[in-house]
Amino acid sequence: MSFIEIFPDSDFPIQNLPYGIFSTKENPSPRVGTRLGDFVVDLAFLDEQSLFDEKYDFFADASLNRFMSAGREVWRKIRQRLTEVLSEDKASIWEEAMRVRALTPVSDVVMHLPVSIGDYTDFYASREHATNVGIMFRGKENALMPNWLHLPVGYHGRASSVVLSDTDVTRPRGQVKPKDSAPEFSASRQLDFELEMGFFIGAGNELGEPISIENAHEHIFGMVLLNDWSARDIQAWEYQPLGPFLAKNFATSISPWVVTMDALEPFRVPGSKQDPAPLPYLQVDSVSVFDIRLEVTLQSAAMDAPQVISRSNMKHLYWSVEQMLAHHTVTGCNMRVGDLCGTGTISGPTEDSFGSLLELTWRGEKPLQLSDGEQRTFLQDGDVVTMKGYCQGDGYRVGFGEVMGKILPAK
Ligand code: CA
Repeated sequence: MSFIEIFPDSDFPIQNLPYGIFSTKENPSPRVGTRLGDFVVDLAFLDEQSLFDEKYDFFADASLNRFMSAGREVWRKIRQRLTEVLSEDKASIWEEAMRVRALTPVSDVVMHLPVSIGDYTDFYASREHATNVGIMFRGKENALMPNWLHLPVGYHGRASSVVLSDTDVTRPRGQVKPKDSAPEFSASRQLDFELEMGFFIGAGNELGEPISIENAHEHIFGMVLLNDWSARDIQAWEYQPLGPFLAKNFATSISPWVVTMDALEPFRVPGSKQDPAPLPYLQVDSVSVFDIRLEVTLQSAAMDAPQVISRSNMKHLYWSVEQMLAHHTVTGCNMRVGDLCGTGTISGPTEDSFGSLLELTWRGEKPLQLSDGEQRTFLQDGDVVTMKGYCQGDGYRVGFGEVMGKILPAK
């Protein structure tokens, strides 16, 4: 228990303690904070007050990168100390003046992109998603490509357009190819979201020295919710033979709080059996994934409340995050602190658990019915897409908050 009251359905009890970058009106320098209930705790201030066993000047930084590069031992030490000082029996050190300086109501802070992201890679690790897309584009017989069960498929994405939740997304323009006519230049008519999780690399590896599957967990700092906005009409025309390019480079949204792997550890569950068995560099005794409940809502400009359009779970992923990282580096590719990996769209086995409109509406064949009487196949201007996620503990949650974005008309 912490020294401030936290409701059981809060995403941010003392068991969570995620990290983010925030600023306030009084102190506009972006710095590192953690979240406790409806408060942001200023870690740069706690550091100044010598509340940690040693000085960590990286809490005054405008990104988590230096903290992340300190490595797992330091992450653990700091988490342990925070759990101590924010607990109920330490309430006495939180005299009024200290409380006012260290804790800011979440309504009074501005959040910033938590990490300076060097490289961004997006995987395709949900068997259900890959199968659904495969059926739509190639037919039932060839749904999964021959490589899919042997390696976590991915592509190198674009880090510069990764944006924080609440950043508006402008409808992209690009080259599209209507059926039976010549290619044309147009605003995308098939704008979509993809429900994903993102994981951040804390400690990197040297060029030429792969990260083994056994050590992969040591290199992952934490996770965020990720929305890989996708223009399906641009994608359908451009993607062969090299994969996604402009269809996905205009915006990728992430949630502001990075939930650490230590906070997520109690929510590991066995993954599905991998058959055929992966090659040795991807093999573990038993694949484990995370039980993170995910939800997508849509609210059009005319609706007065968001409507749930999908419920999924990260545990549906076929490939684990450790397998993705081991595969990414097996060539000797070096990961650097702050690199971001997306898991790929997380679709569950049922129609209401699909993680994109492409799947939920089966490429537009089955429009979604919205509560304002409208229908949706793909996103319209003014639509707001929000993704939430949390792990359910015994009487508490470890949650991610939300990642939200609103569609603006093409410029
Ligand atoms: Ca994706």
